[in-house]
Amino acid sequence: MDFHFSHSWARDLPGMYLRQAPDVAPAPRLLALNQELAEELGLDAQALQLGAAEWFSGAKLPPGADPLALAYAGHQFGGFSPVLGDGRAHLLGEIVTPQGARFDVQLKGSGRTGFSRGGDGKAAIGPMLREYLISEAMQALGVPTTRALAVVATGEDILRQEGPVPGAVLARIAASHIRVGSFQFLAARGEVDKLRDLMDYTLERHFPGVSGALGLFDAVAARQAKLIAQWMGLGFIHGVMNTDNMALSGETIDYGPCAFMEGYAPGTVFSSIDRQGRYAYANQPLILGWNLARLLEALLPLIDPDSDKAVEIANARLDGISALYEAAWAAEMRRKLALEGEEPGDAALVADLLSAMTGADWTLTFHRLAGAVEGEGLLRPLFENFTAMQAWLPRWRARLGRDAVQRLRAANPAVIPRNHQVEAALHAATGGDLRPFHALLAAVTQPFVEDERYMLPAPSSFGRYVTFCGT
Ligand code: AMP
Ligand code: MG
Ligand code: MG
Repeated sequence: MDFHFSHSWARDLPGMYLRQAPDVAPAPRLLALNQELAEELGLDAQALQLGAAEWFSGAKLPPGADPLALAYAGHQFGGFSPVLGDGRAHLLGEIVTPQGARFDVQLKGSGRTGFSRGGDGKAAIGPMLREYLISEAMQALGVPTTRALAVVATGEDILRQEGPVPGAVLARIAASHIRVGSFQFLAARGEVDKLRDLMDYTLERHFPGVSGALGLFDAVAARQAKLIAQWMGLGFIHGVMNTDNMALSGETIDYGPCAFMEGYAPGTVFSSIDRQGRYAYANQPLILGWNLARLLEALLPLIDPDSDKAVEIANARLDGISALYEAAWAAEMRRKLALEGEEPGDAALVADLLSAMTGADWTLTFHRLAGAVEGEGLLRPLFENFTAMQAWLPRWRARLGRDAVQRLRAANPAVIPRNHQVEAALHAATGGDLRPFHALLAAVTQPFVEDERYMLPAPSSFGRYVTFCGT
């Protein structure tokens, strides 16, 4: 089988990678393969079924691969690291689909690189299957995202906090792995010519027809604003919105400690390391602005050779970010609420819904609106106190357009990856039983189809949910 890899990153961006071989997995075993994605990529799904365990574990490189660890910098929880880079990932090459779209094929958990610092370069089965599950759910929910092509168990145990756990490698597909941190890497070193090369590369790959640093910034800001509005609409909490985890393509990337909010609470945080709540649900739009400001900073030398002038121009762009997000959020909420057209009172209608929803299950409340177009449907049991919601419903109904029920159903999923279901599936998989994982995967990749088994929030006995990254 031929992947027809091409290597534009290696060719066009010297200094932005290290050439590194993945580790050799001792006893690779295929745990999950995304046949549908393989076909979209123009790969022979049958040949992949046979070869994936070796090709995607590092046991044997796929023909034509030229593995690279990419260099990038990044602000992690607000603090800048000039060199981060792929510490446990290898870019094998790029695939151009029959439709002409270019995608990176990357292994994650495939061994140490020159960027590993103290890390072991490995990944455990649980977190890699978790990324597979949640990224494929996001795809099905209509959210731009990196995708999962396969997960292969390596046959080797790795050491984690809980003791030895089985290791695995994820084969990840991305429109690219260009991050805000990729630009920061070059900007921090004062490598302006290379920064321009990266800008040109990014424009050509993601924004054909757009030119210049401001053109790039505006295009990225528009995609990112829309992306974060979609996350917010779904109650998705990324958990680690560091600048190295923000892709210029506008895809959701790096599924570490992410999780979906259940009961609506703006301060919700799941990640064990996010003690200040920097990346809490309601902070995500602010962090969008913060990260875009870091991108603007990195682009300054390309905005104008006169640095005072560049700063002035950049500041004007910064001032526009919150309006950009507000517009994206308003559009997302009009879609979720099936509002007809735009009216001045819409922002208040949304704000009042949110305050009425405090504590109510985010996903189910929106999902059940389709049944509350006339009468209250099944909403009441979701609320501890229904008074404010009861007052809100008639105001909302007055704003509905034609085909409201149909539009509500299409906009508000029945099934999201529920935290307790995810944990149960990963626990079983780690113990060798993949059936719950595949059953959950099937449900979350049909998110608009009601499936009673997967729709309910965690029972209170599940307790407070805590997630971890870099495992
Ligand atoms: P993340 O928190 O996933 O965005 O990762 C931040 C940085 O830590 C990146 O440079 C990763 O490559 C690196 N990293 C995360 N886990 C490991 C690991 N197990 N071994 C080596 N590097 C890692
Ligand atoms: Mg990362
Ligand atoms: Mg990560």
